[in-house]
Amino acid sequence: MSEVPALEIVQLEVGLLQNFCEVIGCPTTGKAALVDPAFEVDRLMKIVRERGWTVETILLTHTHDDHVAGLDEAAAETGAVVRCHPLELEAAGQFAARVEPVGDGEDVWIGGGRMRAIWAPGHTPGCVCWYGPESEALITGDVLFVGSCGGVSYQGSDPKAMVDTLQRKLGSLPEQTRLYPGHDYGKTPTSTLMWEFVNNPALRADTLEAFCAYKRVAVPT
Ligand SMILES: [Zn+2]
Ligand SMILES: [Zn+2]
Repeated sequence: MSEVPALEIVQLEVGLLQNFCEVIGCPTTGKAALVDPAFEVDRLMKIVRERGWTVETILLTHTHDDHVAGLDEAAAETGAVVRCHPLELEAAGQFAARVEPVGDGEDVWIGGGRMRAIWAPGHTPGCVCWYGPESEALITGDVLFVGSCGGVSYQGSDPKAMVDTLQRKLGSLPEQTRLYPGHDYGKTPTSTLMWEFVNNPALRADTLEAFCAYKRVAVPT
């Protein structure tokens, strides 16, 4: 069996809302993916060009405006296939011609490497975190930030689903996994799941009641 290579992940902060985008590249084939192309697509594409990579895929964590503000430009420029949760498909389709759903636990191949879709409802019903088993990386969008987590008061938000996502789904990943959040809201741009489970109040609040108290939202009945 040939070994699956770790993908290279380049983080870039863009726009005025402290958004993080990523460029993910396969070191052996030069195939690449963009994650949540929002603002300043030209800076993302500069990273791609400098490395001599070819973008074939765009991965979305979800379709809130600040994560898809550059999707139309990025999709048109690269011709890439956009992958997102089925519940986010219609919104993504407004910005890109080629949009395909991804299933929970499905591997999306980027050259010889892969990123696995982890369905992570709570912030929105169709949030996806992207996990690289070989890269030991987790791109969380607005699900988990360094030291905090995404809001659960949006349309379609569900605090109960968020607790399950954070505790059970993210909690089952290896603790050395590096966290790449969707916004630069923490003390550091990235962190590890181990650090987060010890220090992040959103993860330390491990019951629905404790989580809702932390987020200052009513406990759903
Ligand atoms: Zn969001
Ligand atoms: Zn956001």
